[in-house]
Amino acid sequence: MLDVSEIKVDGYECVVRGIDRDAGYHGLIAVHSTVLGPALGGLRMWTYANEAEALNDVIRLARGMTYKSAVARTGLGGGKAVIIGDSRTDKTPALLHAVGELINYLDGRYITAEDVGISEEDLDRVGEVSRWVSGRSVKKGGSGNPSPFTARGTLVGLNACLEEVFGSADYRGKVFAVQGVGAVSRPLCEWIVERGGRIVASDVNPDHLEWARTRVGAETSAPDAIYDVECDAFMPCALGASINDDTVPRLKTKIVAGCANNQLENPSHARALQDRGILYAPDYVINGGGIINVAGEFDEGGYNVENVLPRIDNIYHALKEVFATAKEENILTSEAADRVAERRLAEGRAKK
Ligand code: NAD
Repeated sequence: MLDVSEIKVDGYECVVRGIDRDAGYHGLIAVHSTVLGPALGGLRMWTYANEAEALNDVIRLARGMTYKSAVARTGLGGGKAVIIGDSRTDKTPALLHAVGELINYLDGRYITAEDVGISEEDLDRVGEVSRWVSGRSVKKGGSGNPSPFTARGTLVGLNACLEEVFGSADYRGKVFAVQGVGAVSRPLCEWIVERGGRIVASDVNPDHLEWARTRVGAETSAPDAIYDVECDAFMPCALGASINDDTVPRLKTKIVAGCANNQLENPSHARALQDRGILYAPDYVINGGGIINVAGEFDEGGYNVENVLPRIDNIYHALKEVFATAKEENILTSEAADRVAERRLAEGRAKK
């Protein structure tokens, strides 16, 4: 039996807690905003130490999704779901069905998607109970793996950065320091090399480094040495917080632009980058390709990749708007991204 209770959090439309002891489920869903549409955001399964830690994470991530969707013009709002538990040992069909029931309680205000600890197959399982599930496998009518779409968005975003800094998106002879050779950055590396760029790659996984060496002719760097590589663009494509007090002074680049989430350890690092004359592409704008793709599942007539690709390519224009706003208002690019999102939210509120 699923027990549902609401948690009041200022600034959030709704936060719910679901507990189903028989299914071993304890989770939260936060709906930050539905001003621009139903709140879309991933389902994360993590070994949170307690509910307070999970709550902190889910509300922070839900708010981030509102901003990300607003800038990407997905026609969706922002939300997030978390399950407290170990995805390697605690994930069962009953637990995933309990998640689906909690999603149903919100009656379409929240739509779930993939995140840390959750696979496409898990979403298919949640989808047995709830129709408010996106990012399911292609065989179940979903849009499948978002990584290639995130890669495409990152590439067009990188074009905008190169134009901003060098006056053209000419990759020839330029060096791209890629931190993390994963699902998103592999196609990205291939495209960069096709355009005449050179890759210096780091990864903690030797097989991934080997891929970079043999498939895109990358030079390789030890994980910690990537920050010292002289390059035209430093590309965080691994984990968060790689831009921090230790690394900013070491960077020898003109641009920081990559697909990783939460690249700045804290907001002050955007200022630190600007002070060093480095252009920062706000992470949630440049890595929006995946969410734009998933949002396409809600198009009239269903998901069609041909409809989605031009929207992903719009990340180029979204970043141009961010850079222009930063200049006009004399603010950081990270602040400008928030401002662009807030503008869209205000327009959305005015229409309601
Ligand atoms: P992935 O797990 O496929 O790739 C990450 C790579 O980084 C792996 O090869 C891993 O070995 C490497 N890595 C981990 N720690 C490292 C370190 N300290 N130094 C160097 N390399 C390290 O993940 P992904 O799907 O490619 O996602 C990469 C980043 O982009 C993540 O931050 C993710 O949250 C973000 N992102 C992904 C998507 C998507 O569609 N997959 C969408 C938006 C944002």
